[in-house]
Parts: sequence; structure tokens; C-alpha cells
Amino acid sequence: MDYEKTLNIFLIGERSVGKSSIVLAYTKKEFDESLHTTVGIYFKSIIMDFCDYKVKICLWDTSGQDRYKDMTSNFYRNMHGAILVYDTSRPETLAKLKERADDIQQYSTKKNMVCFVVGNKIDKERAVPKKDGLAFAQKHNMLFAECSAKTNEGIKFVFEELLWNVRCFLFKYG
Ligand code: GDP
Repeated sequence: MDYEKTLNIFLIGERSVGKSSIVLAYTKKEFDESLHTTVGIYFKSIIMDFCDYKVKICLWDTSGQDRYKDMTSNFYRNMHGAILVYDTSRPETLAKLKERADDIQQYSTKKNMVCFVVGNKIDKERAVPKKDGLAFAQKHNMLFAECSAKTNEGIKFVFEELLWNVRCFLFKYG
């Protein structure tokens, strides 16, 4: 595979926020096996095509992983795009994303990195107002959307907007 033309997109968030379901809703494909077997760090990945690029979508469950911080810094360096997922029915999952946003700011070396904050499960009773997710995204200079992997609402928009932005940044900054 031509790695120059691979876009690394990560879905990051706490357990059960719906990361796998979001990717499944978009690609209609289940994840394959673990990509990394490093202690405590759990990855799954899937490859798809977008325009003239291969897109490697990795799923990173960050629950209880704060103690592996040193090991994880490298992963941030290789990202082209990240979807930071929280569950709109569980406010603590948005609070946890602050640490991930700080990590991205600290470790990412790419000028062209694009981040999307995504509130999933909007079909359920809401516990996080939309404006809170939006304020978080704006504060960290990230894109924002809400979606439901269950009903498919908003899913296509998230991936297409993200990939399009990543591609534009690559043209601009190389
Ligand atoms: P992950 O651990 O972040 O990958 O989360 P999963 O994709 O495994 O989803 C965790 C649970 O939430 C599963 O039972 C899913 O069926 C459910 N789920 C995921 N997305 C949605 C959604 O948009 N709405 C509802 N109601 N449930 C969802």
C-alpha cells in the first residue's frame, strides 16, 4: 500500500459512546481485528477509499487510559483527522474529551490535522445541550456535529465533511 496516500482517521472517546456503531453506520463494515496489542491500548481498524486516498479508520477506546499517556503520544503524531465522540445522554463523556483535546494540542505535529467533535445518540433522551458540545468544539477550534448511529442521522455528513477538510488541508500544507 502507498502510505503517502493513506489518511489516518481516529475515532476517540470513552467506552460505549458509539464509536464502532458510527463507523459501521457509515461503512456498513465491521471492524477487523486489533491493530495494536500494546498493553492496555486497544485499537481496531478498517480501510476504505475516499477520492484518490486510502482511509485507515482506527478506533481508540480511551476509557481508563490516562496512565498510558507516554505510550499514546506517538499515535497523535500520526493522525490526519480525529472524531472525538461523546454520548449526548451521558455528560461525563463530554467532560472526558477535554483531556483528549489537550493531548491533541500537545502531541499533534500536523498543521493539517482536522478534528471533529461529535455528540452521538441524539435519538435518546438528551442530557447534554447542543450548545455545550458546540462551545467545547469552538473552544478547541474543532468542527462540530450531532448524530445517531442508530437512526443514521448526521453520520454521512460527519465523515464527508471531515475527509473533505483533511484533503483540502493536505493540498494546502502537503
Ligand atoms: P464504542 O464502545 O464507543 O465503540 O460503542 P459501541 O459502538 O459499541 O456502542 C455501545 C452501545 O451503544 C451499543 O449497545 C450500541 O448499540 C449503542 N449505540 C451506539 N450508537 C447509538 C445511537 O446512536 N443511539 C442509541 N440509542 N444507541 C447507540
